[in-house]
Amino acid sequence: MSQQAPLESEYALEIYPRRGLNIVRGEGARLWSDDGEEYIDCAAGVGVANIGHSNPAVTDALTRQAQTLLVCPGIFHNDRRGELMKKLIERAPAGLNKVFLCNSGTESVEAAIKFGRRTTGRAGLVTAMRGFHGRTLGALSATFKYRDAFEPLLPGNSFVPLNNIEKLDAAIDDDTCAVLLEVVQGEGGVRPAEAEYLHAARRLCTERGALLIIDEVQTGFCRTGRFFACEHFDLAPDMMCLAKGIAGGVPMGAVLCGDSVSAGVGVHGTTFGGNPLACAAACATIDYMVEHDLSKRAENLGAEFSQQFPLDQLPSVRELRQIGLMIGIELKSKATPVLHALLDEGVIALPAGPTVVRLLPPLTIEEADLVRVIDALKKVL
Ligand SMILES: *Cc1c(COP(=O)(O)O)cnc(C)c1O
Repeated sequence: MSQQAPLESEYALEIYPRRGLNIVRGEGARLWSDDGEEYIDCAAGVGVANIGHSNPAVTDALTRQAQTLLVCPGIFHNDRRGELMKKLIERAPAGLNKVFLCNSGTESVEAAIKFGRRTTGRAGLVTAMRGFHGRTLGALSATFKYRDAFEPLLPGNSFVPLNNIEKLDAAIDDDTCAVLLEVVQGEGGVRPAEAEYLHAARRLCTERGALLIIDEVQTGFCRTGRFFACEHFDLAPDMMCLAKGIAGGVPMGAVLCGDSVSAGVGVHGTTFGGNPLACAAACATIDYMVEHDLSKRAENLGAEFSQQFPLDQLPSVRELRQIGLMIGIELKSKATPVLHALLDEGVIALPAGPTVVRLLPPLTIEEADLVRVIDALKKVL
Protein backbone atom coordinates (compact mmCIF):
# COMPACT_ATOMS: atom_id res chain seq x y z
CA MET A 1 0.00 0.00 0.00
CA SER A 2 1.06 3.58 -0.61
CA GLN A 3 2.70 5.54 2.21
CA GLN A 4 0.78 8.72 1.40
CA ALA A 5 -2.52 9.28 -0.38
CA PRO A 6 -1.59 9.37 -4.08
CA LEU A 7 -1.90 12.82 -5.68
CA GLU A 8 -4.32 11.35 -8.20
CA SER A 9 -6.82 10.47 -5.51
CA GLU A 10 -7.35 14.18 -4.89
CA TYR A 11 -7.78 15.26 -8.52
CA ALA A 12 -8.97 12.37 -10.69
CA LEU A 13 -12.66 12.05 -11.51
CA GLU A 14 -13.82 8.94 -9.70
CA ILE A 15 -14.35 6.53 -12.59
CA TYR A 16 -12.19 3.49 -11.90
CA PRO A 17 -12.55 1.00 -9.06
CA ARG A 18 -9.02 1.37 -7.67
CA ARG A 19 -6.77 -1.31 -6.23
CA GLY A 20 -4.92 0.96 -3.78
CA LEU A 21 -1.57 0.78 -5.58
CA ASN A 22 0.46 3.75 -6.78
CA ILE A 23 2.55 2.30 -9.62
CA VAL A 24 5.69 4.28 -10.42
CA ARG A 25 7.95 2.06 -12.55
CA GLY A 26 7.86 -0.92 -14.88
CA GLU A 27 10.42 -3.16 -16.56
CA GLY A 28 9.69 -6.35 -18.47
CA ALA A 29 6.97 -8.23 -16.58
CA ARG A 30 7.65 -6.37 -13.29
CA LEU A 31 5.99 -3.31 -11.79
CA TRP A 32 6.98 -1.31 -8.71
CA SER A 33 4.76 0.76 -6.41
CA ASP A 34 5.82 3.95 -4.64
CA ASP A 35 6.64 2.03 -1.45
CA GLY A 36 9.19 -0.10 -3.31
CA GLU A 37 7.07 -3.28 -3.50
CA GLU A 38 7.66 -5.39 -6.59
CA TYR A 39 4.90 -7.15 -8.55
CA ILE A 40 4.69 -9.66 -11.37
CA ASP A 41 2.34 -8.01 -13.82
CA CYS A 42 -0.21 -10.40 -15.32
CA ALA A 43 -2.37 -7.50 -16.48
CA ALA A 44 0.17 -5.78 -18.75
CA GLY A 45 -2.02 -2.67 -18.80
CA VAL A 46 -4.92 -4.91 -19.91
CA GLY A 47 -3.06 -6.75 -22.63
CA VAL A 48 -1.05 -3.75 -23.82
CA ALA A 49 2.56 -4.37 -22.74
CA ASN A 50 2.94 -7.56 -24.82
CA ILE A 51 6.67 -6.88 -25.29
CA GLY A 52 7.15 -5.94 -21.62
CA HIS A 53 7.16 -2.60 -19.84
CA SER A 54 9.57 0.04 -21.11
CA ASN A 55 11.06 -2.26 -23.72
CA PRO A 56 14.30 -0.54 -24.88
CA ALA A 57 13.38 -1.25 -28.51
CA VAL A 58 10.39 1.06 -28.08
CA THR A 59 12.01 3.69 -25.88
CA ASP A 60 14.91 4.01 -28.37
CA ALA A 61 12.51 4.32 -31.34
CA LEU A 62 10.48 6.94 -29.44
CA THR A 63 13.58 8.96 -28.62
CA ARG A 64 14.80 8.94 -32.23
CA GLN A 65 11.37 9.84 -33.63
CA ALA A 66 10.79 12.57 -31.02
CA GLN A 67 14.02 14.20 -32.18
CA THR A 68 12.95 13.95 -35.85
CA LEU A 69 9.20 14.62 -36.23
CA LEU A 70 6.41 14.51 -33.65
CA VAL A 71 3.41 15.80 -35.57
CA CYS A 72 2.17 15.11 -39.08
CA PRO A 73 -1.54 15.23 -39.96
CA GLY A 74 -3.20 12.74 -42.30
CA ILE A 75 -3.36 15.20 -45.21
CA PHE A 76 0.39 14.65 -45.66
CA HIS A 77 2.19 11.41 -46.28
CA ASN A 78 4.77 10.38 -43.70
CA ASP A 79 7.58 7.85 -44.02
CA ARG A 80 7.13 6.29 -40.55
CA ARG A 81 3.38 5.92 -41.07
CA GLY A 82 3.90 4.24 -44.42
CA GLU A 83 6.45 1.88 -42.90
CA LEU A 84 3.99 0.86 -40.18
CA MET A 85 1.13 0.31 -42.63
CA LYS A 86 3.35 -1.98 -44.71
CA LYS A 87 4.34 -3.98 -41.63
CA LEU A 88 0.71 -4.38 -40.56
CA ILE A 89 -0.47 -5.55 -43.98
CA GLU A 90 2.47 -7.98 -44.30
CA ARG A 91 1.32 -9.66 -41.06
CA ALA A 92 -2.44 -9.45 -41.67
CA PRO A 93 -4.75 -12.21 -42.93
CA ALA A 94 -4.87 -12.42 -46.73
CA GLY A 95 -7.29 -9.95 -48.30
CA LEU A 96 -6.67 -7.09 -45.87
CA ASN A 97 -4.66 -4.50 -47.76
CA LYS A 98 -5.52 -1.00 -46.50
CA VAL A 99 -4.99 0.68 -43.11
CA PHE A 100 -6.72 3.42 -41.12
CA LEU A 101 -4.79 4.56 -38.04
CA CYS A 102 -6.35 5.99 -34.90
CA ASN A 103 -5.59 6.19 -31.19
CA SER A 104 -7.46 3.48 -29.29
CA GLY A 105 -9.52 0.32 -29.54
CA THR A 106 -12.88 1.99 -29.26
CA GLU A 107 -11.92 4.44 -32.02
CA SER A 108 -10.98 1.55 -34.29
CA VAL A 109 -14.40 -0.04 -33.73
CA GLU A 110 -16.07 3.34 -34.21
CA ALA A 111 -14.29 3.78 -37.55
CA ALA A 112 -15.10 0.22 -38.66
CA ILE A 113 -18.80 0.84 -37.98
CA LYS A 114 -18.71 4.05 -40.03
CA PHE A 115 -16.79 2.39 -42.90
CA GLY A 116 -19.31 -0.46 -42.79
CA ARG A 117 -22.23 1.94 -43.06
CA ARG A 118 -20.61 3.76 -45.99
CA THR A 119 -19.90 0.48 -47.76
CA THR A 120 -23.24 -1.28 -47.33
CA GLY A 121 -25.71 1.59 -46.91
CA ARG A 122 -27.08 -0.37 -43.95
CA ALA A 123 -26.88 0.36 -40.23
CA GLY A 124 -27.59 -2.79 -38.18
CA LEU A 125 -24.89 -4.64 -36.29
CA VAL A 126 -25.04 -8.23 -35.13
CA THR A 127 -22.72 -8.82 -32.18
CA ALA A 128 -22.22 -11.44 -29.50
CA MET A 129 -23.57 -11.57 -25.97
CA ARG A 130 -20.69 -10.95 -23.53
CA GLY A 131 -18.82 -9.16 -26.36
CA PHE A 132 -16.80 -6.05 -25.58
CA HIS A 133 -15.92 -3.46 -28.22
CA GLY A 134 -15.27 -0.21 -26.35
CA ARG A 135 -16.84 2.64 -24.42
CA THR A 136 -17.60 5.39 -26.93
CA LEU A 137 -21.24 5.55 -27.94
CA GLY A 138 -20.99 3.66 -31.24
CA ALA A 139 -18.74 0.90 -29.92
CA LEU A 140 -20.79 0.79 -26.72
CA SER A 141 -23.89 0.16 -28.83
CA ALA A 142 -22.21 -3.05 -29.95
CA THR A 143 -21.08 -3.96 -26.42
CA PHE A 144 -23.15 -6.25 -24.24
CA LYS A 145 -22.38 -4.74 -20.82
CA TYR A 146 -21.87 -1.20 -19.45
CA ARG A 147 -24.62 0.16 -21.72
CA ASP A 148 -27.80 0.53 -19.67
CA ALA A 149 -26.80 3.84 -18.06
CA PHE A 150 -26.24 5.39 -21.50
CA GLU A 151 -29.37 4.58 -23.44
CA PRO A 152 -30.47 5.55 -26.01
CA LEU A 153 -27.62 4.10 -28.09
CA LEU A 154 -27.46 3.27 -31.81
CA PRO A 155 -30.65 1.47 -32.84
CA GLY A 156 -30.90 -1.73 -34.86
CA ASN A 157 -28.26 -3.83 -33.11
CA SER A 158 -28.87 -7.40 -32.06
CA PHE A 159 -26.97 -9.60 -29.63
CA VAL A 160 -26.65 -13.31 -30.29
CA PRO A 161 -25.18 -16.09 -28.13
CA LEU A 162 -21.60 -16.90 -29.14
CA ASN A 163 -21.11 -20.20 -30.99
CA ASN A 164 -24.81 -20.65 -31.83
CA ILE A 165 -24.92 -20.72 -35.65
CA GLU A 166 -28.71 -21.00 -35.83
CA LYS A 167 -29.25 -17.80 -33.84
CA LEU A 168 -26.61 -16.00 -35.90
CA ASP A 169 -28.28 -17.14 -39.11
CA ALA A 170 -31.62 -15.82 -37.86
CA ALA A 171 -30.17 -12.44 -36.82
CA ILE A 172 -28.50 -11.44 -40.13
CA ASP A 173 -31.04 -9.77 -42.40
CA ASP A 174 -31.30 -7.14 -45.15
CA ASP A 175 -30.59 -4.35 -42.68
CA THR A 176 -27.41 -5.95 -41.30
CA CYS A 177 -24.38 -3.81 -42.02
CA ALA A 178 -21.90 -6.07 -40.26
CA VAL A 179 -21.33 -8.96 -37.92
CA LEU A 180 -18.82 -7.82 -35.28
CA LEU A 181 -17.04 -10.50 -33.23
CA GLU A 182 -14.02 -11.12 -31.04
CA VAL A 183 -12.15 -14.35 -31.83
CA VAL A 184 -11.69 -14.86 -28.10
CA GLN A 185 -13.93 -12.72 -25.90
CA GLY A 186 -11.62 -10.90 -23.50
CA GLU A 187 -13.64 -8.75 -21.10
CA GLY A 188 -16.47 -11.28 -21.44
CA GLY A 189 -14.47 -14.01 -19.68
CA VAL A 190 -11.80 -15.41 -22.06
CA ARG A 191 -14.31 -17.34 -24.17
CA PRO A 192 -13.13 -18.57 -27.55
CA ALA A 193 -15.32 -18.62 -30.64
CA GLU A 194 -15.42 -22.01 -32.38
CA ALA A 195 -14.00 -22.54 -35.86
CA GLU A 196 -17.33 -23.63 -37.37
CA TYR A 197 -19.03 -20.59 -35.90
CA LEU A 198 -16.51 -18.14 -37.33
CA HIS A 199 -16.60 -19.81 -40.73
CA ALA A 200 -20.41 -19.76 -40.68
CA ALA A 201 -20.27 -16.04 -39.85
CA ARG A 202 -17.96 -15.50 -42.84
CA ARG A 203 -20.25 -17.45 -45.17
CA LEU A 204 -23.49 -15.83 -43.96
CA CYS A 205 -22.03 -12.32 -44.29
CA THR A 206 -20.91 -12.99 -47.84
CA GLU A 207 -24.28 -14.51 -48.81
CA ARG A 208 -26.28 -11.60 -47.39
CA GLY A 209 -24.14 -8.62 -48.33
CA ALA A 210 -23.01 -7.87 -44.80
CA LEU A 211 -19.42 -7.31 -43.68
CA LEU A 212 -17.49 -9.41 -41.18
CA ILE A 213 -15.59 -7.23 -38.69
CA ILE A 214 -13.22 -9.05 -36.35
CA ASP A 215 -12.20 -7.19 -33.22
CA GLU A 216 -8.61 -8.26 -32.44
CA VAL A 217 -7.95 -5.37 -30.08
CA GLN A 218 -7.15 -7.82 -27.26
CA THR A 219 -6.24 -10.98 -29.19
CA GLY A 220 -3.87 -9.34 -31.67
CA PHE A 221 -0.08 -8.95 -31.58
CA CYS A 222 0.91 -12.48 -30.60
CA ARG A 223 -1.32 -12.73 -27.51
CA THR A 224 -2.99 -16.03 -28.49
CA GLY A 225 0.06 -17.76 -29.94
CA ARG A 226 -0.46 -16.37 -33.44
CA PHE A 227 0.34 -12.89 -34.68
CA PHE A 228 -3.43 -12.43 -35.09
CA ALA A 229 -5.97 -14.87 -33.64
CA CYS A 230 -7.71 -15.11 -37.05
CA GLU A 231 -4.74 -17.26 -38.15
CA HIS A 232 -5.91 -20.10 -35.88
CA PHE A 233 -8.91 -20.46 -38.19
CA ASP A 234 -7.70 -19.19 -41.56
CA LEU A 235 -10.41 -16.56 -41.17
CA ALA A 236 -10.61 -13.75 -43.73
CA PRO A 237 -12.59 -10.79 -42.32
CA ASP A 238 -13.54 -7.66 -44.28
CA MET A 239 -12.16 -5.49 -41.49
CA MET A 240 -9.98 -6.08 -38.46
CA CYS A 241 -9.85 -3.76 -35.44
CA LEU A 242 -6.55 -3.42 -33.58
CA ALA A 243 -5.15 -1.49 -30.61
CA LYS A 244 -3.83 -2.49 -27.14
CA GLY A 245 -0.51 -4.26 -27.90
CA ILE A 246 0.10 -2.51 -31.22
CA ALA A 247 2.64 0.10 -30.09
CA GLY A 248 4.34 -1.33 -27.01
CA GLY A 249 2.32 0.84 -24.62
CA VAL A 250 1.91 4.00 -26.68
CA PRO A 251 -1.77 4.80 -27.46
CA MET A 252 -2.70 3.67 -30.96
CA GLY A 253 -5.44 1.87 -32.86
CA ALA A 254 -5.94 0.66 -36.41
CA VAL A 255 -8.53 -0.72 -38.79
CA LEU A 256 -7.29 -3.05 -41.51
CA CYS A 257 -9.63 -3.24 -44.52
CA GLY A 258 -10.04 -5.46 -47.56
CA ASP A 259 -11.19 -4.56 -51.08
CA SER A 260 -14.81 -5.08 -50.02
CA VAL A 261 -14.64 -1.89 -47.93
CA SER A 262 -14.92 1.62 -49.35
CA ALA A 263 -15.06 4.59 -47.02
CA GLY A 264 -14.80 7.63 -49.30
CA VAL A 265 -12.44 10.60 -49.12
CA GLY A 266 -13.22 13.22 -46.47
CA VAL A 267 -15.84 11.26 -44.54
CA HIS A 268 -13.75 10.32 -41.50
CA GLY A 269 -10.56 11.43 -39.81
CA THR A 270 -8.63 11.97 -36.59
CA THR A 271 -6.12 14.62 -35.48
CA PHE A 272 -3.69 12.32 -33.72
CA GLY A 273 -4.31 9.09 -35.65
CA GLY A 274 -1.13 7.83 -37.31
CA ASN A 275 1.00 10.24 -35.32
CA PRO A 276 4.68 9.57 -36.24
CA LEU A 277 5.67 9.02 -32.60
CA ALA A 278 3.07 6.25 -32.18
CA CYS A 279 3.99 4.84 -35.60
CA ALA A 280 7.68 4.63 -34.64
CA ALA A 281 6.73 2.81 -31.43
CA ALA A 282 4.48 0.40 -33.36
CA CYS A 283 7.18 -0.32 -35.98
CA ALA A 284 9.67 -1.13 -33.21
CA THR A 285 7.07 -3.26 -31.41
CA ILE A 286 6.23 -5.34 -34.47
CA ASP A 287 9.92 -5.80 -35.33
CA TYR A 288 10.58 -6.96 -31.77
CA MET A 289 7.70 -9.44 -31.91
CA VAL A 290 8.90 -10.91 -35.19
CA GLU A 291 12.57 -10.99 -34.18
CA HIS A 292 11.83 -12.74 -30.88
CA ASP A 293 9.07 -14.94 -32.32
CA LEU A 294 6.70 -13.86 -29.55
CA SER A 295 3.73 -15.74 -31.00
CA LYS A 296 5.65 -18.99 -30.60
CA ARG A 297 6.73 -17.93 -27.13
CA ALA A 298 3.11 -17.14 -26.15
CA GLU A 299 1.99 -20.52 -27.50
CA ASN A 300 4.71 -22.43 -25.61
CA LEU A 301 4.44 -20.56 -22.31
CA GLY A 302 0.63 -20.82 -22.45
CA ALA A 303 0.82 -24.58 -22.97
CA GLU A 304 3.30 -24.85 -20.12
CA PHE A 305 0.99 -22.88 -17.85
CA SER A 306 -1.88 -25.26 -18.63
CA GLN A 307 0.31 -28.30 -17.97
CA GLN A 308 1.57 -27.00 -14.65
CA PHE A 309 -1.72 -25.55 -13.40
CA PRO A 310 -3.02 -28.18 -10.94
CA LEU A 311 -6.66 -27.99 -12.05
CA ASP A 312 -7.76 -31.27 -10.44
CA GLN A 313 -6.28 -30.23 -7.07
CA LEU A 314 -8.22 -26.96 -6.96
CA PRO A 315 -11.88 -27.60 -6.14
CA SER A 316 -12.66 -23.85 -6.24
CA VAL A 317 -11.87 -23.75 -9.99
CA ARG A 318 -14.59 -24.61 -12.48
CA GLU A 319 -12.58 -24.39 -15.68
CA LEU A 320 -9.29 -23.18 -17.18
CA ARG A 321 -9.48 -21.50 -20.59
CA GLN A 322 -6.09 -20.84 -22.18
CA ILE A 323 -5.21 -19.66 -25.67
CA GLY A 324 -1.55 -18.70 -25.81
CA LEU A 325 -0.97 -16.23 -22.97
CA MET A 326 -4.63 -15.26 -22.81
CA ILE A 327 -5.72 -17.16 -19.73
CA GLY A 328 -9.08 -17.29 -17.95
CA ILE A 329 -9.60 -19.16 -14.69
CA GLU A 330 -13.34 -19.62 -14.13
CA LEU A 331 -14.07 -19.91 -10.41
CA LYS A 332 -17.06 -21.30 -8.55
CA SER A 333 -17.07 -18.06 -6.53
CA LYS A 334 -16.32 -14.35 -7.01
CA ALA A 335 -13.00 -13.35 -8.56
CA THR A 336 -12.41 -10.16 -6.52
CA PRO A 337 -11.21 -11.80 -3.26
CA VAL A 338 -8.81 -13.95 -5.30
CA LEU A 339 -7.45 -10.87 -7.08
CA HIS A 340 -6.81 -9.20 -3.71
CA ALA A 341 -5.11 -12.32 -2.35
CA LEU A 342 -2.93 -12.53 -5.48
CA LEU A 343 -1.90 -8.92 -4.97
CA ASP A 344 -0.76 -9.82 -1.44
CA GLU A 345 1.38 -12.52 -3.09
CA GLY A 346 2.90 -9.93 -5.45
CA VAL A 347 0.89 -10.86 -8.55
CA ILE A 348 -1.29 -8.41 -10.46
CA ALA A 349 -4.16 -10.08 -12.34
CA LEU A 350 -7.45 -8.97 -13.89
CA PRO A 351 -11.10 -9.89 -13.65
CA ALA A 352 -13.14 -10.80 -16.74
CA GLY A 353 -16.70 -10.83 -15.49
CA PRO A 354 -17.63 -11.62 -11.86
CA THR A 355 -16.15 -15.14 -11.58
CA VAL A 356 -13.19 -15.19 -13.97
CA VAL A 357 -9.57 -14.37 -13.07
CA ARG A 358 -7.81 -13.29 -16.24
CA LEU A 359 -4.06 -13.37 -16.87
CA LEU A 360 -2.58 -11.34 -19.72
CA PRO A 361 1.13 -11.23 -18.84
CA PRO A 362 3.74 -9.68 -21.11
CA LEU A 363 4.67 -12.32 -23.70
CA THR A 364 8.28 -11.74 -22.68
CA ILE A 365 7.63 -12.95 -19.12
CA GLU A 366 10.40 -15.19 -17.77
CA GLU A 367 9.47 -18.83 -17.29
CA ALA A 368 10.49 -18.58 -13.61
CA ASP A 369 8.03 -15.70 -13.12
CA LEU A 370 5.23 -17.74 -14.66
CA VAL A 371 6.04 -20.55 -12.21
CA ARG A 372 5.84 -18.01 -9.37
CA VAL A 373 2.40 -16.98 -10.65
CA ILE A 374 1.26 -20.61 -10.61
CA ASP A 375 2.61 -21.02 -7.06
CA ALA A 376 0.70 -17.89 -5.97
CA LEU A 377 -2.47 -19.22 -7.62
CA LYS A 378 -2.06 -22.59 -5.85
CA LYS A 379 -1.73 -20.77 -2.56
CA VAL A 380 -4.77 -18.50 -2.90
CA LEU A 381 -7.21 -20.81 -4.72
C1 LIG B 1 -10.06 -3.10 -24.82
C2 LIG B 1 -10.91 -3.48 -25.96
C3 LIG B 1 -11.55 -2.50 -26.76
C4 LIG B 1 -11.48 -1.04 -26.44
O1 LIG B 1 -10.19 -0.53 -26.50
P1 LIG B 1 -9.86 0.91 -25.81
O2 LIG B 1 -8.47 1.19 -26.28
O3 LIG B 1 -9.98 0.71 -24.34
O4 LIG B 1 -10.85 1.87 -26.34
C5 LIG B 1 -12.26 -2.94 -27.84
N1 LIG B 1 -12.36 -4.25 -28.14
C6 LIG B 1 -11.77 -5.20 -27.40
C7 LIG B 1 -11.89 -6.63 -27.80
C8 LIG B 1 -11.03 -4.86 -26.28
O5 LIG B 1 -10.46 -5.80 -25.53
